[in-house]
Amino acid sequence: MTRAHHADVVIIGTGMGGGTLAWSLRDSGAKVLLLERGDFLPSEPQNWSPEAVFGENRYKAKEQWRDANGGWFSPGVHYFVGGNTKVYGAALPRLREADFDEIQHAGGVSPAWPISYGELAPYYDRAERLFWVHGEAGVDPTDPPRSGPYPFPPMPPDPYMEELAERFRLQGLHPAPLPVGLDYRPGGRCVRCGTCDAFPCRVLAKADAEACAVRPAIEWPNVELWTNTYAFRITTNASGDRITGVEVQRGGERMRVAADIVVVACGAVNSAALLLRSATARHPQGLANSSELVGRNYMVHTNSVLVAIDPRRPNPTVFQKTISINDFYHAGVDSEFPFPMGNLQPIGKLQAAMMRGVARHAPDWSLRAAARQSVDWWVMSEDLPDPANRVTLDSSGDIVIHWRPNNLAAHSRLMRQAKTMLRRAGYPILLDRQMGIATNSHQCGTLRFGRDPGRSVLDRYCRAHDLDNLYVVDASFFPSSTAVNPALTIAAQSLRVGDHLRERLGVATVHDRLTGVAEA
Ligand SMILES: Cc1cc2nc3c(=O)[nH]c(=O)nc-3n(C[C@H](O)[C@H](O)[C@H](O)COP(=O)(O)OP(=O)(O)OC[C@H]3O[C@@H](n4cnc5c(N)ncnc54)[C@H](O)[C@@H]3O)c2cc1C
Repeated sequence: MTRAHHADVVIIGTGMGGGTLAWSLRDSGAKVLLLERGDFLPSEPQNWSPEAVFGENRYKAKEQWRDANGGWFSPGVHYFVGGNTKVYGAALPRLREADFDEIQHAGGVSPAWPISYGELAPYYDRAERLFWVHGEAGVDPTDPPRSGPYPFPPMPPDPYMEELAERFRLQGLHPAPLPVGLDYRPGGRCVRCGTCDAFPCRVLAKADAEACAVRPAIEWPNVELWTNTYAFRITTNASGDRITGVEVQRGGERMRVAADIVVVACGAVNSAALLLRSATARHPQGLANSSELVGRNYMVHTNSVLVAIDPRRPNPTVFQKTISINDFYHAGVDSEFPFPMGNLQPIGKLQAAMMRGVARHAPDWSLRAAARQSVDWWVMSEDLPDPANRVTLDSSGDIVIHWRPNNLAAHSRLMRQAKTMLRRAGYPILLDRQMGIATNSHQCGTLRFGRDPGRSVLDRYCRAHDLDNLYVVDASFFPSSTAVNPALTIAAQSLRVGDHLRERLGVATVHDRLTGVAEA
């Protein structure tokens, strides 16, 4: 094995967490090396083809993981520069303020975070600017307090969606514009196509980690990116109390990269797997694992797709993601169910080829007809941390996901509320399907942060309790999954960790240097 390189900070993974951190360190003067197992996602006609994306799974990782019974499945992960954000739906809400506190759910307790909303709020402001978030303050009664308006006005709804929102308002609900990260800025590249959610953006108009963070970061001479570089092991010194670097596979060659600070950002499953794979005689259970929590408390949300069909009225909407409904988010709205239920938001407009996976034998014409008349929803509830839901490695080093969904009463109740709401709005046909183990797009929680080293893996700045120069900035740090989309929170915490690292490296924080100047 060759020793090829030294960096001040090595970041493993270029998704929402890793990409954002690289961006925040770009002008720190520190020598930053980004390691990414994938390549740049090519711009090609297939980017927008439902047949290629859903039929052939063109961009999904080719690897398979195992479930607890030994069965194989194809996880919903995407190994490219930008990580899963290359195909994400760019819905970028903040957590609700109460999500940072302990909350009683029907299925158990959602634990408090070790930081308050107030501590993360300035970083949410910055993350929204960096990821071009369009939204409208003051419409959603559950929105947390904010320092000012969104960086950009909300995406204008198509008339059909605007009318639907009005139908919800007449029921006493509070539909609000869904905050989304798109280049719909003046002169921006977004063409409001129907292939935002689950597709790569061919015109780089989606605020993904590649477009907003990695590309601008690597323009700086001190930030380098190695693609097609798989980190298989993090190394320590002989006494096991310091990280010394990373062993990687690059272009068929195994090499060692030395680093003063290593930041893991491989996504919640792969980050836990990397720490487990890095076990040594001093750390026999894996790195940073004195709490025995590495890989545990895996969460993904309980998610369902709900297709609402009005056979009398086609839905001509192309860009559907303009509404968010949080009326069922907090406890207290349903006298028969005094617990939180979750969030409702449209997904990208379904097309016939996207329904094929769930209706294998239906004739094409029936799928086309359903897609023409439907409005399509994501029904999302909080799942609770359970130490038995965990990531492990089998004897061959393959990833095993032990997962038993929980807090399901909240999801059933939310589904019932969603169906009532849509039936009243004029949709007599309602088809729903709950997502299974392979839909792990919102994976989180496997390396939770907290104050107590006995009950968490990372501290409040996502530094490993056990190892002073090891950090993790992807969705692993979430102690609870909440019931909103995770990516903006990952980015905000990554910017917060970025400021912490700048202080550690002895350079100015962004707050010192910026006084209200837009970052994007
Ligand atoms: C179809 C889809 C739609 C989604 N829609 C939304 C949405 O609308 N809003 C939202 O908030 N979230 C959404 N998400 C989830 C969102 O994309 C993730 O929460 C977010 O990307 C997670 O960030 P991360 O940094 O934890 O991991 P990722 O963004 O997945 O990044 C991990 C990176 O690490 C790399 N990597 C992994 N292992 C290694 C290794 N050993 N060596 C080197 N590199 C490695 C990967 O290739 C990847 O680049 C969606 C996800 C999917 C799949």
